[in-house]
Amino acid sequence: MKYENIRKQVLDAILEAVEQGLIKGTSGNIALRDDVDDVVAITPSGIPYKGMKPEDIAIVDLDGNWLDGPYKPSSEVPMHTAVLRARPDIKATVHTHAMYATIMAMGEGTELKPITPPQCEFVPVGVVPFTMPGSNDVADKVVEALGKDGRAVLIKNHGMFCCGKNMKAAMAATEYTEEMAVTTMYAKMLGVYEPMPEEAVRKMKELIAADQAV
Ligand SMILES: [Zn+2]
Repeated sequence: MKYENIRKQVLDAILEAVEQGLIKGTSGNIALRDDVDDVVAITPSGIPYKGMKPEDIAIVDLDGNWLDGPYKPSSEVPMHTAVLRARPDIKATVHTHAMYATIMAMGEGTELKPITPPQCEFVPVGVVPFTMPGSNDVADKVVEALGKDGRAVLIKNHGMFCCGKNMKAAMAATEYTEEMAVTTMYAKMLGVYEPMPEEAVRKMKELIAADQAV
């Protein structure tokens, strides 16, 4: 099997996301760029993830053309490949319709701010307005919103898109974005919402950046 390593990593990640409740049914998709070749392993479209095998994961090029695998690649290929083309620092991309992030992507004034220190690394850069799923339009808007160093963005009436230098980092961005959405929503409902002070967030981001530079 070609590209077994990246196919296995994508499969493991999607099963983990299903296990954690971040992905339900066949919604959501995950992609990973190969370290050597300009190819991307991505979950297939409309196939249940449970029971899937590594060879069922599709292989596309960086323009989204289907190269290998028995099933059609995810319809959200343009969003994943657009981010991978625009951001050489990014290898893995995760798109989910996780419930709380999706709720927080709907309202005005629901900007997510860190509530706990680990969340500081993954603060979503904002909310992308709704455009048709699978379109180049939504892909362009996600790329624009993420900019040079964004790790997570919410998409109105759709979900979220997260990325990282490897699969572990992209999954962490997804998990912490959902955690931020959960904690923010319940704290606001209880009337006890108090995000971390901005100065502390700034210092945490410096510490995180320094760690990554080592
Ligand atoms: Zn979607």
